[in-house]
Amino acid sequence: MRKFENLVRAALVGWARNSDFPSMAVFLILSLCLAAAGCQRKTIRDEKPTDQTNQSRQSNQDTQRALDKGDLKLLYQPRKIPKAGSTVASNPQVLNQVVANLNEKIALPWDVTISFQDCDQPDAHYDPETRSITICYQLIDEYYDLFTHKIKDKAKLDDAVRGAVASTFFHELGHGLVDAWKLPVTGKEEDAVDQLSTLVLINNTNNGEQLALNGAAAFQLYADLERGTTKIFWDEHSLDEQRFYDTICLIYGHAPDKYSYLVKDGTLPEERADICREDYPRVAKAWHQLLSPYLKHSAGVETVSPAPQNAPNTR
Ligand SMILES: [Zn+2]
Repeated sequence: MRKFENLVRAALVGWARNSDFPSMAVFLILSLCLAAAGCQRKTIRDEKPTDQTNQSRQSNQDTQRALDKGDLKLLYQPRKIPKAGSTVASNPQVLNQVVANLNEKIALPWDVTISFQDCDQPDAHYDPETRSITICYQLIDEYYDLFTHKIKDKAKLDDAVRGAVASTFFHELGHGLVDAWKLPVTGKEEDAVDQLSTLVLINNTNNGEQLALNGAAAFQLYADLERGTTKIFWDEHSLDEQRFYDTICLIYGHAPDKYSYLVKDGTLPEERADICREDYPRVAKAWHQLLSPYLKHSAGVETVSPAPQNAPNTR
């Protein structure tokens, strides 16, 4: 439990109050570059474009226009029975803005539906047949149940759930992008899109590291709940314990000095931490190379200011 409390403490320090997951994501998607080389927080003003770079940029934009034949489409289905206290992702106007901003940044070969809806059970998934991402309100409720045993303050509880939902959303969007562009994946796709979700969050938001830490905390809580039950080693997902360590590994590797306390207090074992410092740039570079052809305005120059230092997961 000590580790969980440390994570939650870290996750809540500096949290932007009154931010909703959707409004966070609006900011997030302003720069969907993945912080690999060439995508690192330059501003246009820093560059002195040459004819060659202008031509390259134009060519890139032309290519993306040719590729971009679809959009993300929000299908917001209000809850049949509103649940008191479950307020994350409950504002369709803001969700629409998130989707609009994502469409400005991501090229897609076809439409992909994002559906917030009631389901028979807690779930989130991407369906390649219908090309749709589903986030069930029952999963959001489950995140509330998960965290509510540890966090009594309502605002902090909302923050924690927001992190878990944001991580889940970008995980599922990762599946959608792998399917849309037939991105090569070695290893388990579930691990790969966990990585993508964490990378997007920690590199592109004011409070994304906190969101990612909350996503990791959710994995740890699931692992605690499942203690004593039979572990499913054959599952396409890694074990929740592993997803927890994999997530904090990237967060630590992204900013080792800032998150050195995770190693000092034993949350992240030193043996793994050494590897995380190497894993982070490797994973970030790989995802950047895979996705950069499909990110609009991705000619290696970002138009946003450097993300603050302060800059989340899923099933
Ligand atoms: Zn998945």
